[in-house]
Amino acid sequence: MHPEIALEATGNAMPDVKPALQLSELSPAIIQSEIRAMSVECDRVGGINLAQGICDTRLPDAAAAGAIAAIEDGHNIYTRLDGIAPLREAIAVKMAQHNYLAVDPHSELLVTNGATGALHAACLALLNPGDEVLLFEPFYGYHVSTLLSQRLVPVIVPLDDADWTIDFDRLRDAMTSRTRAILLNSPANPSGKVFTRGELARIAELATEHDLFVFSDEIYEHFLFDGREHVSPATLPGMAERCITISGLSKTFSITGWRIGYLAAAARWLPAIGYFHDLTYVCSPAPLQYGAAAALRALESTSFYTDLRGEYERKRDLLCAALTCAELVPFVPQGAYYILADATRLQGATASEKARTLLRQCGIATVPGSAFYRAGGGSNLLRFCFGKKDPDLHRACEALEQLA
Ligand code: PMP
Repeated sequence: MHPEIALEATGNAMPDVKPALQLSELSPAIIQSEIRAMSVECDRVGGINLAQGICDTRLPDAAAAGAIAAIEDGHNIYTRLDGIAPLREAIAVKMAQHNYLAVDPHSELLVTNGATGALHAACLALLNPGDEVLLFEPFYGYHVSTLLSQRLVPVIVPLDDADWTIDFDRLRDAMTSRTRAILLNSPANPSGKVFTRGELARIAELATEHDLFVFSDEIYEHFLFDGREHVSPATLPGMAERCITISGLSKTFSITGWRIGYLAAAARWLPAIGYFHDLTYVCSPAPLQYGAAAALRALESTSFYTDLRGEYERKRDLLCAALTCAELVPFVPQGAYYILADATRLQGATASEKARTLLRQCGIATVPGSAFYRAGGGSNLLRFCFGKKDPDLHRACEALEQLA
């Protein structure tokens, strides 16, 4: 009831009504702005921002040229809700070549607003409020927040903090009659863990036994080091039907701002997932879909993807060496482009305080490890992003070496 009407009806000077304007029950009381605050402070001191997972290296020329041509050619209106056919076809070719997954581009693929939009739509289409979803810790904050924003229940299973191995007894113990899905991220942000074929096979067995969906966020699939292989869980026996494969071009092509991602799943799930994606986003930006399709096609039989691995392995080694020198012992990542490092030696009682100490002492912004753990976890860790241009990375390494 509107407060003014209540006043008239009751005749009381101070009606006992709730204020009409208030945040929803789902809205967080405090918006976590640590990363943003860190970036502002970093800019103020002219520091180097290794906090945000924004890869600022150059995009493929074919992507830029394709998008500009599409704008000029008038591709500036909504596209089909599942994306333009040339992009879906190019993604299907890429998935056949790199993921060993045969996907029908016309019934099993959806172009999405990044991997983020894909996960959001898939959860809305396949899960109900109160359903439990298992995921590993350290986790990517958006995964947990996306689940919470839909009244789903994240059930967090810690990885071994020495080497990120999975305790399968713990995983099994975390399952209840309300468990509906497992959310995987390999290569993982922030740990850099690359799930082995053996680990994924055991997860697949559990998923089959308990009849669970597997949401697989593979956004870092091309960032693999020391000869590791990326295994898409959907390729494992019996998994095609229950696996929702999510990836995108944000990281591979350094185009995080373009919002081009995709989702592959069995045809029976696609219409509902597409329905929810359409409700929120309508479609991915039209000309940028053309640019992405052009780049995928242009790079199909080139060394682009193997070069990417080599380039990022070199960046990883550079930053790991500097961190070791600074006695911020790194957990050497197997994939993705982040390093968690032990920041025990830095002053501060919490990871946030330690991050501020590092920014003050050597002008490098990082993310406090606590952002990737439940309350109390990650307090000795900082996350460094090495998806950066070489000159910035070199400057950061020099600054870290000064710290030693
Ligand atoms: N998944 C993971 C694990 C990520 O780290 C990120 C970027 N930080 C995303 C998804 C976001 O991907 P997109 O830009 O495609 O939404």
